[in-house]
Amino acid sequence: MSKECFNCKCEESESNPLMPEEFYKNLFLCHNCRFSEEIKQWRVKMEQTDPLYRRYVDLITAGFKMNCPSCGKETNRNPKFIGHSPVWELCCTKCSEVDYKKISPYKYDLTKWHELYDGFIKGKLELNESWGEILELEKSSNIPKHKCKCGGEFSMVAKPRCLNCKTIVINSIFHVCDGYYA
Ligand SMILES: [Zn+2]
Ligand SMILES: [Zn+2]
Ligand SMILES: [Zn+2]
Repeated sequence: MSKECFNCKCEESESNPLMPEEFYKNLFLCHNCRFSEEIKQWRVKMEQTDPLYRRYVDLITAGFKMNCPSCGKETNRNPKFIGHSPVWELCCTKCSEVDYKKISPYKYDLTKWHELYDGFIKGKLELNESWGEILELEKSSNIPKHKCKCGGEFSMVAKPRCLNCKTIVINSIFHVCDGYYA
């Protein structure tokens, strides 16, 4: 079956190639339509009608402001890696410190972590359900374990904590909250 653009129904051509839509992978968009006003409006509509898509958009938004669920102080969250810079920053297991010495995929095998990230932001991975598997992966990886000055450890499986009260602010091992406001 030949692929066609979801929006204008054109077929794959050299001058106007088709690309899978980033969230709805089985939908294809041609180069001309990808950034069109129609598709912009379609995305807005999907955000309002599809909770999974809404979640996806929220989770990848840099500088998204949120409040600590415990003390109410404002913090913000950022994706750990975006597109062409797939490096990871590690949170501390006990406090709000973040290790900004980036873990690079050119040095460590992060394939499985990237797969988990992808599943997580698309709502296909339940963190609690897969927690045992994630801990095993962490244990078997050769990513160096640095101690934090608080006594905790910078880890791939640490969740970001509030700068103020140290409560976990987002149930994700794929995001950091760094308290930086643009
Ligand atoms: Zn098109
Ligand atoms: Zn707090
Ligand atoms: Zn710490």
